[in-house]
Amino acid sequence: MPALYLVATPIGNLEDITFRAIRILREEVDLIACEDTRQTSKLLQHYGIHKPLLSYHEHNEVARAKEIVTALQDDQSVALVSDAGMPLISDPGYRVVTAAIAQNFKVVPVPGPSAALSALAASGLATDRFRFIGFVPQKPAARRRVFEEIANESATVIAYESPHRVIEALADIAEILGERTMVLARELTKIHEEFLRGTAQSIREELERRGSVKGEITLVIARAENNITAVEDPSFQVERLEREGVGRMEAIKRIAKQMGLPKREVYRLVSEQGSSREDKAPDLVRRSDPESHG
Ligand code: SAM
Repeated sequence: MPALYLVATPIGNLEDITFRAIRILREEVDLIACEDTRQTSKLLQHYGIHKPLLSYHEHNEVARAKEIVTALQDDQSVALVSDAGMPLISDPGYRVVTAAIAQNFKVVPVPGPSAALSALAASGLATDRFRFIGFVPQKPAARRRVFEEIANESATVIAYESPHRVIEALADIAEILGERTMVLARELTKIHEEFLRGTAQSIREELERRGSVKGEITLVIARAENNITAVEDPSFQVERLEREGVGRMEAIKRIAKQMGLPKREVYRLVSEQGSSREDKAPDLVRRSDPESHG
């Protein structure tokens, strides 16, 4: 009976592949669908596996899904692998799987490494509930929205990020999530594997001190400690507008309107927030009296 096997492959260390994965690639399948034939060839060569390869990626996945279903109809079993880790996890393959299911073919997971779970397990952050959000969006506005969205998350959050954008992402996390504990897992399972633990600010400072950021990165962010989201907090919103150059009273007016709250209430929250911060950090620059802005 032909089947579509979803085979996890190493995320760095070539030894991280299961006996079953090797047996299936070597003995069970007629065809291996992979993202990058050069990348997969290296793995197959290492294990002495010789099988026809078919490349599939985001841009040809629909056409390839049809070809793979045709192979299944011809009684051939197919393995789907990605460049690294578990296929379909921030990797293509979804269309192939749905096409195979639609035709009633067996879809068989062959589990193995995944950067998300490896980073989570070693992060030291809560593992009982977690949310995987895939890649952090590249565009600043979308990226900030994602972090605002997780401000009140009651599960640990896992995200993939590129080394080229991680400094900007950490700056946004620091601004939106403040002192939230987090872990940056870099080069998992490879020679230079490391875990930077701290806050977005402290991790960012460490990376900046080094001058350049290299390697593959997974971020793990601690859950919110309470249920008040930074984005739902009117004083946070007022501060945000002030940072954009809006005067405090105008910011209070706008946020009160936007959130359907009395202006007086927003003013009270902003003042309370300000004085509690001043109590905690007397050396912060003191704000002028909001009333004086008219
Ligand atoms: N399907 C893969 C998996 O299951 O882990 C993820 C593929 S996704 C296209 C690649 C991203 O995963 C990288 O940009 C990085 O964020 C993360 N990643 C992959 N390998 C990693 C590693 N060795 N260490 C840290 N993060 C890694």
